Amino acid sequence: MSLHLFNTLTRRREEFVPLDEGRVGMYCCGPTTYADPHIGNMRTFFFADLLHRYLELRGFDVKFVMNLTDVDDKTIRGAIRDGIALGEYTEPFATRLFENFARLGIEGADEYPRATDYIAQMIALIDRLIEGGLAYQAADGSVYFDISEYPGYGKLSKTDPTRARRGARVAADEYDKGDVRDFALWKAAKPEDAKVGAVWETPWGSGRPGWHIECSAMSMSELGETFDIHCGGVDLIFPHHEDEIAQSEGATAKPFARYWLHGEFLQLQGEKMAKSTGNLFTLEDLLERGVKASSIRHTFLTAHYRSKLNFTWQALDASAEAVRRLRACYVRLREHPTSRHARADDTPRLHEVAARSLAAFTRAMDDDLNTSVALSALFELVTETNARLDDLCTIGITEAEAEAARSAFDRIDGVFGLLALAEREQDDPVDQQRLAAWVEQRLVERADARSARDFTRADRIRDELATRGVVVEDTPTGPRWSVQP
Ligand code: AMP
Ligand code: ZN
Repeated sequence: MSLHLFNTLTRRREEFVPLDEGRVGMYCCGPTTYADPHIGNMRTFFFADLLHRYLELRGFDVKFVMNLTDVDDKTIRGAIRDGIALGEYTEPFATRLFENFARLGIEGADEYPRATDYIAQMIALIDRLIEGGLAYQAADGSVYFDISEYPGYGKLSKTDPTRARRGARVAADEYDKGDVRDFALWKAAKPEDAKVGAVWETPWGSGRPGWHIECSAMSMSELGETFDIHCGGVDLIFPHHEDEIAQSEGATAKPFARYWLHGEFLQLQGEKMAKSTGNLFTLEDLLERGVKASSIRHTFLTAHYRSKLNFTWQALDASAEAVRRLRACYVRLREHPTSRHARADDTPRLHEVAARSLAAFTRAMDDDLNTSVALSALFELVTETNARLDDLCTIGITEAEAEAARSAFDRIDGVFGLLALAEREQDDPVDQQRLAAWVEQRLVERADARSARDFTRADRIRDELATRGVVVEDTPTGPRWSVQP
C-alpha cells in the first residue's frame, strides 16, 4: 500500500504523490514568539515532526520548513509593554521553543525562517497582488486583499465569500469564523511600532506585514510557488490558511500547497488548551511534577492527529507504564544471550513476528498516520518478544532473529522516538534532580499526613509515587526511595 493522507482541501483521504518523485517540500506554521509554548502547541509540532519522520522512513527526501512569527499584533504589543526592541522580546521565546523540542525529542525542521528576515519577499508579493488588481490601499494607509476579486476564496474552509460585506475590512490578524472580510496584507505604521523597530519602508508607505502574508512569503521562498504539504493546527484553517491560499494563488496563478493537513487540539478538562484562557500546562510544569517527556510522546501517539485528545494524569501514568514496558523489553532483548540453534516447533519465529509487526505498523501509518493502531503493532511485538524470552525452555533465539526484532524496534522508534527518549531520560541529571525534588516534597506531605493520622491521604501519595515508578521503603532512619528501571 502507499501512503494516504487526509487532505483538508478535498476533505478526502488521498494517495500521497509528491510533485517531484521521491522529494517532498513541507511547511508547518510555527509559533508566534510572544509567549512560552504550552503542551497543546507541542501536540501540533509533534504531529508535524511525526509526519516528517514517517515520510523519511518511507524513503522521501524531505525539506521541512517551520516559520517563527516574530512580528504580529501580539509580539509588537509585548515589546511595547516591556519597552524593548522587537527582536530582543521575541528571541528568548524562540530559544525556549527549541529547548522544548529537544526535551520532547522533536527533531524539528530543516529551516526556521523568521518573518522579520523575509520582509522584502512579502513586499514583492504584495506588489504583485496590487498590480494584479487583487489588493488595494485603503484610506488608513494599509493594504488589503480584495476577496471579491478572487473567485477561489473559501475553498479550503468552505467559507462563502458572498457573505462578505463590500468594503468591510479587518486589520486584526485573526478574526471570527463567520466574519468574511478583506484582510490586511500590510498595516500602516502606528507611532508605537517605530519605538520597538517594527516599521519597514515600502512603495506604499511605512508599516509592517499582516500575519497571513508572512507565511505565504516564507513558504514560497523556501519551497517554491507550488509545494507538497502545508500543515498546522485546525484553528488555522480559517482565516489564516484560507488567506494564505488566496494571496499565494492570487499572485502566482499556480496551485499553492497540494495537501493540507490539520492537527486537532489538545484539551484540558474538555476545553482547548490555550494561552488566551490560561487553561494550559507547559512542558516545564509537567516535568516538575515528575512526568517524563517520553510519557507525553506516548500519550500523543495514542490518539489520531485528527481527533481531539483530552490530557489527563491517568493517561500520562498509563503511558509511563507503557514506555517502561517497551524499554524493559528492548533492554532484555539486547542483553539476552542468543543461541546458535533455533528450536523447531510450531510457534512463529521471532523474526517472523517482527516482520509481521513492522508490516502492521507501516499499514497503520500509511492509513493517514493512524498512530494508535501503529502503537498496538509495536506493543504486539513487545508481548511476543517477552513471551519468547520468558519461555524457560527457550533454547532458540538466534542472533539473526534477535537482530531482526531489534531492527524492527529501531525502525519503528525512528518514527515514534519513545525508546530514544526513554534512554536519554534514564540518566539525564536534570530529570533526576527534578524528580528527586518532586519525590522529596511528596514524602514530606506523606509524613505530615501520617502524623495527622490521615492514612487515606498517605496511601494516596504512596500510590501516586508508584505510578511514576517510585518505590518507597520505610526504614528506621526514614523513608528510602528508588525508581524502578
Ligand atoms: P500559536 O503560537 O498560538 O500561533 O500556535 C502555534 C500552533 O499551535 C498553531 O499551529 C496552533 O494551531 C497550535 N495550537 C494552539 N493551541 C493548540 C492546542 N490546544 N492543541 C493543539 N495545537 C494547538
Ligand atoms: Zn502560517
